[in-house]
Amino acid sequence: KHSRVPLIAGNWKMNLDHLQAIATVQKLAWTLKDANHDFDAKGAEVAVFPPFTDLRSVQTLVSADKLDVVYGAQDVSEHDSGAYTGEISGAFLKALECTYVIIGHSERRTLHGETDEQLARKVAAAIRHGLVPVLCVGETAEDLEQHGPSAVPVAQLRAALEGLSGSPEIVVAYEPVWAIGSGQAATPEQAEQVAVKLRETLAELFGQETADATRILYGGSVKANNIASLMREPNVDGALVGGASLDVAEFASIARFQK
Ligand code: PEP
Repeated sequence: KHSRVPLIAGNWKMNLDHLQAIATVQKLAWTLKDANHDFDAKGAEVAVFPPFTDLRSVQTLVSADKLDVVYGAQDVSEHDSGAYTGEISGAFLKALECTYVIIGHSERRTLHGETDEQLARKVAAAIRHGLVPVLCVGETAEDLEQHGPSAVPVAQLRAALEGLSGSPEIVVAYEPVWAIGSGQAATPEQAEQVAVKLRETLAELFGQETADATRILYGGSVKANNIASLMREPNVDGALVGGASLDVAEFASIARFQK
């Protein structure tokens, strides 16, 4: 395996208000600290993605207690400021010390009609403000049947990143739509197969060095009981966790998976 630091990311979606967020992050940090006693080396980087309205509270808690948890937002505007009612600027997220921002989650693509072109602009906006985009790509069950496993995720990756130059710091999350919230995760072999194709595409776009440094996560029904086998794959560098990230004990044991 490369020297990529594994990333375990919890997407809370539209769950937990700011008071629940404080309790959850506090409990998570303590659980991780306890679990850490059993490990020689520090485990994965652990990130949470709360709703926008929780971020200020999470920032206050994390900075006051120096918690070993990072955080980000679930979406970002492609614009920096101005007459965009309801939108949130990357500048505001950076001011709250967000590290990451999820871009192109399948729920935003399907429920909010976000297009590849718009997502490319969001990725550019995130980078412009010093945030690391966690770009989600993945095929539906229908795509899988019609085009095979990697065609759609690779095309989505290309479309979102093509305009970037240099060696951008990004995280890619491969999330087969059929595996999200379904309880039916991809097999480690399936996840690895697509991760390899995504890394090849990154190498084409930005060179091998950047491709080798980029973390590719798997997402879709990740639980404590399947994380270890996924993480054994050489090109799977972590997980984006939805449902299971709301259960602190479960999420902490995902984050402290045994290799
Ligand atoms: C997600 O929505 O990003 C996700 C992976 O959800 P779940 O873990 O619940 O399948």
